[in-house]
This record gives sequence, structure tokens and C-alpha cells, in this order.
Amino acid sequence: MIEATGLTKRYGAYRALDRVSFEVRRGEVVGFLGPNGAGKSTTMRILTCYLSATSGSVKVHGYDVFDEPLAVREKIGYLPQRAQMYGEMGVLEYLRFVADVRGIDVTSFNKRMRNIVEVCGLGTVLGKDIRQLSHGYRQRVGLGQALIHNPPILILDEPTSDLDPNEKAEVIEYIKEIGKDRTVILSTHNLAEVEEACARAIIISKGRVVADGAIDEVRARGGRVRYQVLVDEKAALRGTAPSSADVEAALAKIQGAISVKELPTDDRCHGFTLLGNKGSDLRGEIFKLCVDKGWVLLEMRRDIQKLEDVFKSLTKGDEVADRLRTAAPDEDEESEDEGLEDDESEDEESDASEDEESDDDADEKDSKKEDA
Ligand code: ADP
Repeated sequence: MIEATGLTKRYGAYRALDRVSFEVRRGEVVGFLGPNGAGKSTTMRILTCYLSATSGSVKVHGYDVFDEPLAVREKIGYLPQRAQMYGEMGVLEYLRFVADVRGIDVTSFNKRMRNIVEVCGLGTVLGKDIRQLSHGYRQRVGLGQALIHNPPILILDEPTSDLDPNEKAEVIEYIKEIGKDRTVILSTHNLAEVEEACARAIIISKGRVVADGAIDEVRARGGRVRYQVLVDEKAALRGTAPSSADVEAALAKIQGAISVKELPTDDRCHGFTLLGNKGSDLRGEIFKLCVDKGWVLLEMRRDIQKLEDVFKSLTKGDEVADRLRTAAPDEDEESEDEGLEDDESEDEESDASEDEESDDDADEKDSKKEDA
């Protein structure tokens, strides 16, 4: 359904995307993950024909985004980050307006609306002005406009940012429902959402894809097992209760322990996180250690590494400096020229720190572009 190959986007010397390639198959719900500034919105804007890449290609439903943008837009529903809407319009009026822009006739619109009202839970707000809506309802209207032409593909850019936890949960439920018969790419830095709504994750860092696979596969990439151990610091079975240094030193000596880190706890116990290798099970050793020493083990838990840990380790140090163009001599000058042609050419002069500082400006500029 979506095939991105070698996408690169430069803003002057700054490389927002660096040879990003991935495929999304029919019916998949894919979480597009990355820290702020990783390149998620840039990728989504390219996929939805709002921005041209410096080099590389994208096919959506078999159409090339550069050569056949209208055909691509017919197949895609897009909810940009902080989507702009006309606050003074009523919800129904706004959706009718979007349908008009897309050339949808009244009969088809009425038919579509029955489904959209149900899937996006808009029944109670159709007559209200958009400016009266809570963030959560605005996002539902945003989902509605993205679905108005019944597209097979949905691209949602951080649809739950700025929502409160209840609204987030609701919007995720709607996305899960919508994803049952569509291909969806959902960008977020909320890992719990990805675990809940997506079967697959693509992690992007510093403009590059650093992981791509089923959630379990991505989680297993961390390859570590984490143990949480709490030992009583007030009482012991024999002798005196241990100090935290005693517990730390003894845990570190367990064969297979890769690292031991103290956890913040109250004054009743010493808490540690111990990392072991993939597939290891050190619980028996930890228990025996406590018995040998006469320590009271208050709690022990073994977890395989969380998606969050993998995310952190894969996206560590997402610094701007890493993305400055290092002028590799073999890089195609032709694609640099293409970059000069696109709308961001005025940014070519700016240095990296300016790029970073002008983030808000850039966002504003892009959202104006989206408005247009
Ligand atoms: P994300 O969506 O992952 O937060 P973006 O795709 O918005 O990241 O941005 C990727 C990088 O490109 C960021 O460092 C951002 O500052 C930079 N960037 C985005 N748009 C522009 C622009 N118009 N001019 C200069 N830099 C930009």
C-alpha cells in the first residue's frame, strides 16, 4: 500500500530525513515512533504530497507521490498534527465543506456521514461550532474529515497529542475501530498507544529508520531481561539488616548480571534494577543470595524489556549535530538541486542551529502551507 524508498529531506545543511525506506502492507496498523524532531511529520507530509523530498521515491496504492499527487490524495485520509479547522463553522457544515472540496456529491456525502458519525462518535456535536468543541472532539472531527472520501489509507500525525488521558483513550479506540478495514500509519511518541493500537512499529531516530517490525520483534531487539529487587533495610532473618551498598555489591556478583542500578525507594527497603541477558532467568540466584545472607526479600519481578526501553536505547542522543550534512563526496549533487527547487529553498542559507531555533517558525510555515 505504501512503499517509501530512500527518502531524504534536507533543509539547507540539515538532514531531516536520511534515506528512509519502509513498506506498509494492506490492512496494517503501523505505529510510527520517534522522539520530537526525529522526522515523523516530515515523512508524513511527503507521503501525503504536502512536501517534496530532496531525493527518494514513494508509491501510495501504486501511485507515485511526485508524478500522480491527485490520485494519491484520493487514496489517503490525512490528519495533520494540530490540524487547522475553521472554528466558526459547525461540525456538519465543515464536513460538508471538506466533502465539496473533494468533489463528493450530496447523496454519497449523506451515506458517508452515517458511517462517520458512528465510527467517530460525532452524533451529539454535529450542530455545534468547531470552536466550542473540546480537544478530544476536535480530533474526532479531524478523523471524520480524513475519512470523508472513504480512503483505504489513513495517515494520522500525533492524533492524541494535547489530549487528556480520557480523550486519548477514546481517540485510540476510534482509531482501532477505523483500522479494522484500513491501512493506518499513526505517528506518536506515546509507546502505550502503539502497544495498544498497532501490530507493527517503525522507529525513526535522527531522520533514519532504526527499527521496523512486529511489536514483539521490536521489543525483543533490546535483548535484555530486567529484574526488580526490593530488600528490607530494617530487618534481617539473621544478624543486622544490609546497607544498600551490601545489596548492590552482592547483586552485581551474581553470574549473568550485566548491570545493577539503585531505585528510589522509601526508608523501608533498598530497591535495585538488575539487567540480565536475553532469555536468562536469575530469579533463583537472587532468592538464594537473600537466603544465604539472611536478608528479607520483599519483592522480586522479572520483565522482558519494555518497548519504552528499546525506544530509549535506539533513539538515544537524537542530536542536531549528527544530522548536519557531512558532505559525503559520493552523494548525488542532483538531489541537492532538487532540494533547491522546493518550497523550503530559503532555508538553504540557514545553519543548523538556526534550523533548530526556527522549529516553531518551520511548524508555522508548514501549517500555513497545510491551510492553503
Ligand atoms: P517530528 O515530527 O519527528 O517531531 P519533524 O519531521 O517535524 O519531526 O522535523 C524533523 C527535523 O526537521 C526537526 O529537527 C525540525 O526542526 C526540522 N525541520 C522541520 N521542518 C523544517 C523547516 N521547514 N525548516 C528547517 N528545519 C525543519
